[in-house]
Amino acid sequence: RQAQYRLLRNKPAVTRDGTRIALNMNAGLLVDLPHLSEAGAEGIGLFRTELQFMVASTMPRMTAQTQLYASVLEASGDRPVTFRTLDIGGDKVLPYMRNTPEENPALGWRAIRLGLDRPGLLRMQLRALLRAGAGRELRVMLPMVTEVSEIDRARALFDLEIEHARRHGHSLPSRILLGSMVEVPALLFQLDALMERVDFVSVGSNDLLQYLTASDRGNTQVASRFDPISRHFLRALKTIIEAADATGKPATLCGEIAGRPLAALALVGIGFRSLSMSAASIGPVKAMLLALDLGRLKAMLEPILAGSGPDDVAGALRAFAEAEG
Ligand code: PEP
Ligand code: MG
Repeated sequence: RQAQYRLLRNKPAVTRDGTRIALNMNAGLLVDLPHLSEAGAEGIGLFRTELQFMVASTMPRMTAQTQLYASVLEASGDRPVTFRTLDIGGDKVLPYMRNTPEENPALGWRAIRLGLDRPGLLRMQLRALLRAGAGRELRVMLPMVTEVSEIDRARALFDLEIEHARRHGHSLPSRILLGSMVEVPALLFQLDALMERVDFVSVGSNDLLQYLTASDRGNTQVASRFDPISRHFLRALKTIIEAADATGKPATLCGEIAGRPLAALALVGIGFRSLSMSAASIGPVKAMLLALDLGRLKAMLEPILAGSGPDDVAGALRAFAEAEG
């Protein structure tokens, strides 16, 4: 199997009927980078910047941040990298940052909320990203956006940093793209306003599923209780990809389900053309896509999502996959 996946490494993921799917990799530390070419990923769809903060014993300084981001870009060569700004708080606690205990950390002071309340911290990170990305494309993504106004406020801070870099004579990235994670259900009802504000979106299905089904992703008793391959969850995801397509905004999905072949099948079936997953999942997902007839998959899936056909969507997909070989 492993050897078979290695053979696929430099082969693009194209379905049997000719649809190209971009398979990217999730990363967070320098040790992940060799996997980029080993797995044949097209880029880093999600770089979790908080990992550097979580493995450190003190707050990483700007120079350390800049160095990490520059090394990541260096190692990635021409492959695009999407850096997500700090997603700390919640279950991702920093021992050196004083925080008040929270009764519901997943619903608490985390990610972009923390960044906007501690603009010094967010600006330092944006400054490091701008330095590291000098002369090339820089893609930055905001985590846990709940209302589109948070994007406006983050963009204003970003603009201040761009202006600061310019004033100090630093060379800037050749292109700067700002995107948003879609992982809080409230955003599903602001998709028009969201698409107007961003250059791209990426669905965080881990959190989106957690919040949509009110089930703690870290609690083993409930974490896998509700199957993401369900009519309701796929419908929610479909509204996102449809809104993105209608406005020409690139969309990807970077939660764990992207790396599960059966779930990836569902995602491609509802319209996703870009996925980001752990490096180890790229081979299996690519093998599945190369064997897929997307037209037949869509014909099977559409009536089910519309409400007719079996309620067991995962079962129907499994039967489809088996019948197709
Ligand atoms: C997600 O929520 O799906 C996601 C990709 O982000 P994280 O797992 O880091 O919260
Ligand atoms: Mg998340």
